[in-house]
Amino acid sequence: MMQSVEQLAYVVATVLFIFSLHWMNDPRTARRAVIAGASAMIIAVLTTWIQPGIIHHGWIILAITLGFVVGIPLSRVPLTAVPQRTALSHAFGGAAAGLVGTAKYFLWLSEGPANLTPFRMIAIVAEIILGYLTFTGSLMAAGKLQEVRWIPQRPVTYPFQNVVNIGLLVVAAALGLLLVLHPAEPWSGAVFLAIIALALAFGVLFILPIGGADMPTVISILNSYAGLSAVAMGFVLDNKLLITAGALDGSSGLILSIIMCRAMNRSFANVLFGAFGKVQAKTSSGEQKIYKQETIEGAAQFLEQAQFVVIIPGYGMAVAQAQHRIRELYDQLTKRGITVKFAIHPVAGRMPGHMNVLLAEANIPYSALVEMDEINADMPQCDVALVVGANDVVNPAARYDKSTPIYGMPIIDADRAKMVFAIKRSKNPGFAGIENELYFKENTFMLFGDAKAVIGDLVKQFAGVAVH
Ligand code: NAP
Repeated sequence: MMQSVEQLAYVVATVLFIFSLHWMNDPRTARRAVIAGASAMIIAVLTTWIQPGIIHHGWIILAITLGFVVGIPLSRVPLTAVPQRTALSHAFGGAAAGLVGTAKYFLWLSEGPANLTPFRMIAIVAEIILGYLTFTGSLMAAGKLQEVRWIPQRPVTYPFQNVVNIGLLVVAAALGLLLVLHPAEPWSGAVFLAIIALALAFGVLFILPIGGADMPTVISILNSYAGLSAVAMGFVLDNKLLITAGALDGSSGLILSIIMCRAMNRSFANVLFGAFGKVQAKTSSGEQKIYKQETIEGAAQFLEQAQFVVIIPGYGMAVAQAQHRIRELYDQLTKRGITVKFAIHPVAGRMPGHMNVLLAEANIPYSALVEMDEINADMPQCDVALVVGANDVVNPAARYDKSTPIYGMPIIDADRAKMVFAIKRSKNPGFAGIENELYFKENTFMLFGDAKAVIGDLVKQFAGVAVH
């Protein structure tokens, strides 16, 4: 009877996990997705908890309490810090899998070598390699994104780096095979610890050559490693829900990384080994490029005369938290009968859906948000393109300049609009570290300043002008 209840609860939890992922596809159902996912997790924990003789209840209560103590402050980070917060969660997941694998190995070893069957040993070896490398790799990724002082942000490369990294993993796998064949020799414990050390070192070295701009993609790949280590843990603990939940986690992480790679027109290998974001050697043509600036009053006048305005938000909008001011500008423009659309690039910002979430927070109607492919067809009819802290995603060099790291990345065709106003604070490049030709085009005018302040000033201009 107890077993049937357990199996039924696990099926319900699995179904909820699947629906949760499905509902995440649309902002309208995303809230429901979170509730379904959290409910599935509660069902999973409670069902495991009530199983007779599994573990001392005090330990579970302690673990849940610790989870709350760490998790609640983590949930309060600003949206711009969500990628590094997510990386921290993966680090915890990896550490949990690694520690469970370690505990199980030494427990079974002490109970007698007969416990250490080849099947269990393969699962344990996979679990500890994936778990521990996810732990240090995710901590490094979080540190890079958080710009922790002693972790280099830019890619760190040295000769034979890939050979060293892959060699390390091959040695760990070879030692793992040795352990599967000889799990209970007097030296087996030392081999086990050596595998852990190699996996921990690999996690650090794996992240070193990867630049900050690629970190969200790598975090997504680490997500899939964490999922796979959970699958291995499910085999070790003989828990079917862990196997299915881990597989969902692993495959969704993989799919997300593939989507992000496609949106940047990059291959997996290029993300992992390409050292993207390395400071580019300056190709000085001797030619001094001139920025043309416009005043707030001038920009407001052009906007007021436009019939069709496209706002292109990027990472700078997130940094400035300008979305609420943008909503006010949207209201002012639409009140005057001007059509306003938002062009959403799939990798604008620092995580998938970054712009959608911020604009939804400011209650901008979903119908005004237009995906890149769709809006590009309308760009030649656009009277004014207002670029708000976007850089790489509107850089025309991506179309033709093979020497740039963003070559081939689809962009929003801001340069095809009749006029462009670009808001940013300085002449610094975007995350790919390259100059943006859009800013020097004949029909582009810069509005230098913090996005929130500049949009706020534009709104004031409109608020002071009577509606016709
Ligand atoms: P971006 O190329 O990083 O440029 C952001 C621009 O915003 C910068 O030029 C910066 O210029 C400006 N800025 C920063 N703070 C600002 C503020 N407070 N007010 C006004 N401007 C501000 O951003 P993007 O065009 O959104 O492109 C995203 C990049 O991240 C791409 O290279 C993409 O491949 C990469 N990426 C994204 C994802 C994802 O999932 N979204 C994943 C992986 C990689 P100033 O410093 O001069 O102000």
